[in-house]
Amino acid sequence: MKSLGKFGGFGGIFVPETLMPALEELENAFLKFKKDKKFNSELNELLKKYAGRPTPLSFCENLSKKLGCKIYLKREDLLHTGAHKINNALGQALLAKYIGKNRLIAETGAGQHGVAAAAAGAKLNFQTDVYMGTKDIERQKLNVLRMKLLGANVKPVDSGSKTLKDAINEALRDWTANVTNTHYLLGSVLGPHPYPSMIKFFQSVIGKETKKQILEAEGRFPDLIVACVGGGSNAIGIFNEFINDKKVKLVGVEAGGAGIESGKHASRFNDKKLGRIGIIHGTKTFVLQDKYGQIHNTYSVAAGLDYCAVGPEHSILRQMKRVHYTYATDKEAIEAFKILSKEEGIIPALESAHAVAHVIKIAKTMKKDDIIVINISGRGDKDLDQIGEIIT
Ligand SMILES: *Cc1c(COP(=O)(O)O)cnc(C)c1O
Repeated sequence: MKSLGKFGGFGGIFVPETLMPALEELENAFLKFKKDKKFNSELNELLKKYAGRPTPLSFCENLSKKLGCKIYLKREDLLHTGAHKINNALGQALLAKYIGKNRLIAETGAGQHGVAAAAAGAKLNFQTDVYMGTKDIERQKLNVLRMKLLGANVKPVDSGSKTLKDAINEALRDWTANVTNTHYLLGSVLGPHPYPSMIKFFQSVIGKETKKQILEAEGRFPDLIVACVGGGSNAIGIFNEFINDKKVKLVGVEAGGAGIESGKHASRFNDKKLGRIGIIHGTKTFVLQDKYGQIHNTYSVAAGLDYCAVGPEHSILRQMKRVHYTYATDKEAIEAFKILSKEEGIIPALESAHAVAHVIKIAKTMKKDDIIVINISGRGDKDLDQIGEIIT
């Protein structure tokens, strides 16, 4: 490998020997094609004509008035398949095609990444198999149907907690057995090198557009950018372009679930007892674990934030104090979901509503001309059944 994929003391490559050739092949291809003209123009064409990029940066007149500072939304909710995940799915699928693979596998929890991978697989002519826990299959029937219509096989995983982490284990097992023709299309900035760097590359289009758009609208950079953090791909995607501009404050919002003290949450950084450094799914990072180092079962109203580990680069960004990581509870996110819908006519994903909730909380500490950009990672249509049950 050209790199060890380290982010300070985090990241790395913790995998069985049998996977090393595949990771090496992937790293080589990524390093080569990320600079390749033909690859990039083909990817840009897909992002533009298929996924719907660039997404707008929308000024929120009503919410700004209500909260007393200038609020803009980066509209990843308007993308094909409903969230930022399609940026990464198309990037990796195209890369897999360049390497010469004919099969994609993916893991999915809520089904959002599975749907994006299935769409990219259909568009670029792959056989696509998506691993999904049986508990999630039961909870996310609509996305299971979407994946099937898009031509993917949904492979049920009945082991462990029957959710996302078990689906990742199964996908890794499949990849080990089928590396010659198969690409593992991982969904967030997690896993062994080169995944965290590669997925950041595919998602950083969000921040690149935001930079241009805010300069056009305001003639300067924002004072604050806020994004929700599951694995951390939409957050790193919008943060990356601004990392070197120290005046731009960056805040990541984790799922506070029923509250940190309850233990029912997915806040790797804000629970001092359960959130500790560990190794999972090929990478070293902050992981929610019990005193024996066994994975602590996570919980959030937002399925996309409900994962026990966070991308390794976030761990170093936190250590360096470049990004501040906080959380919003289910209750705060649901309130924000309702407020944004009513004030601006935009129904955000419950995941993105966590970022909105943080802004509602801190707006009073901002000045009138301060500019905040919130990354709206996805749209809320997928959450309506769930919200209906909660608010009626
Ligand atoms: C999957 C998902 C997330 C969480 O994933 P990240 O890698 O943290 O971005 C956030 N928002 C939406 C809408 C999602 O579908």
